Amino acid sequence: MKNLKFLTLLALISCSTDPEDQFCKNYNSNEEEFAPIQIVENFAFSVNFPESITVYTSRVEFDGVEGAEAQHEGIDYINNDRDATDVPIYTIGSGTVVYARTGCVSSSQFASNTLQRECGAGWGNHLVIQHSRSVFSRYAHLRTDGVLKAVGEQVEKNEIIGIMGNSGRSDMRHLHLEIGKSVTPFRSCASSQSFESVTDPRRFGL
Ligand SMILES: [Zn+2]
Repeated sequence: MKNLKFLTLLALISCSTDPEDQFCKNYNSNEEEFAPIQIVENFAFSVNFPESITVYTSRVEFDGVEGAEAQHEGIDYINNDRDATDVPIYTIGSGTVVYARTGCVSSSQFASNTLQRECGAGWGNHLVIQHSRSVFSRYAHLRTDGVLKAVGEQVEKNEIIGIMGNSGRSDMRHLHLEIGKSVTPFRSCASSQSFESVTDPRRFGL
């Protein structure tokens, strides 16, 4: 009995000191890491057409076939209007912030970023929002000071959560938006994590 108590205590201690179990409001790091390429899957997700995801001057579509690694894992919304200093980014739906990556710098806003291109696994500064048990959205390449939400915060549909930027693997100020599915919970104190699969955001009117 004594030994069992001791072992239980030991288990509790080792649990609470495991970095994967810790809670971080954000993961602030200029680490240049790798996250696996996501597989294309056509899954259902009940989200209505948002009023605006952001203001953009051009866009590049999702690219990939079902069951294979995506060629382009989301939609890019590009904004090259130099008069627009702060381009806000809105949520596609309500949910909870489960990952916030900060700490990636960028060399410019309107040309190829030359600094820390693989920071945040190429997504640069980014936010991940959980909408349902397994459906998430990712908002990538945010400006260095453009991550406006932290892990644990609840967000509404069409709420401003970030400012468009050019961090990570980016050649022009833009938002890269992904809709993904994962069964594994996001780790808020760890390097960037891929979804298990992604789908074409155009399927939801984006
Ligand atoms: Zn992209």
